[in-house]
Amino acid sequence: MHTTTTIRDFRAARAGLDTLGFVPTMGFLHEGHLSLVRQAKRECGTAAVSIFVNPAQFGPNEDLARYPRDLNHDLALLGEAGADLVFMPGVEEIYPPGYRTYVTVEGLTERLESAIRPGHFRGVATVVCKLLNIVQAEKAYFGQKDAQQCMVIDQMARDLAIPTAIVIAPTVREPDGLAMSSRNVYLSPEDRRAATVLIRALHAAEQAHNAGERDAERLREIVRGVLASEPRGQPDYVSCADPLTLQELDAVGQQGALLSLAVRFGTTRLLDKALLGGIQPSALSPQPSALSL
Ligand code: AMP
Repeated sequence: MHTTTTIRDFRAARAGLDTLGFVPTMGFLHEGHLSLVRQAKRECGTAAVSIFVNPAQFGPNEDLARYPRDLNHDLALLGEAGADLVFMPGVEEIYPPGYRTYVTVEGLTERLESAIRPGHFRGVATVVCKLLNIVQAEKAYFGQKDAQQCMVIDQMARDLAIPTAIVIAPTVREPDGLAMSSRNVYLSPEDRRAATVLIRALHAAEQAHNAGERDAERLREIVRGVLASEPRGQPDYVSCADPLTLQELDAVGQQGALLSLAVRFGTTRLLDKALLGGIQPSALSPQPSALSL
């Protein structure tokens, strides 16, 4: 496994490789990240991973300074998962003095997470665009847990004709259903136990949808009702939105729905989502949808 902190060295190492799959991360790796690395390796033969805690996607009052980091452990895990190249740039390598270029994906970034974290997706789109330019992979892999992020990146890659295929992989969960996240480490034992309320709330709405409920507000109410049973968690939002535009729905139609939620436990925000209904991406969009898996 080759590790490097500079763009120049990464490019030199990449030049000697053939087909490459790429997994961008912020480190503090868990099974969710590693499943993406193994998929990249399986599908492309060679896997590159970046570890970069991107300041541009954190707001002034967010957890940039205390974001969990453990580089040695990350490298050990990546070695076991079969990563070939690891890019771990410092902030000045990505944003050197005089840096001025940012990528904004309009529309999709005005709702859900963006309402609470203004500027977040501008930072995400910018760093992912730059990393895709550096890495020059055939495919790049992202986790569906961050559903809005997947849509933003998929849209950006199509709009800017980025030649890397964007692949979206399913959410990896703990045995009790909590979506794995580097931020789960912040949870107190009580909050960690309480956090299963997210998946329970989504399951309740999925069951109602399977039983024929199509009223989007009723589905949101079902989610809010289950969340309210756990006073440790404070919901930021509960959304039942069009899976391609993220516009809130009145009714779940043939296009299905993206049910998503963010819940605060103390200062830790947890996200989760479920897809309701069969989405036929090829019928809705000339390109495969970010949420087709
Ligand atoms: P992060 O390090 O949190 O920025 O995540 C890096 C990539 O891993 C993103 O594409 C995430 O969506 C993905 N990821 C994070 N958690 C999970 C998970 N539990 N299952 C699948 N993918 C995940």
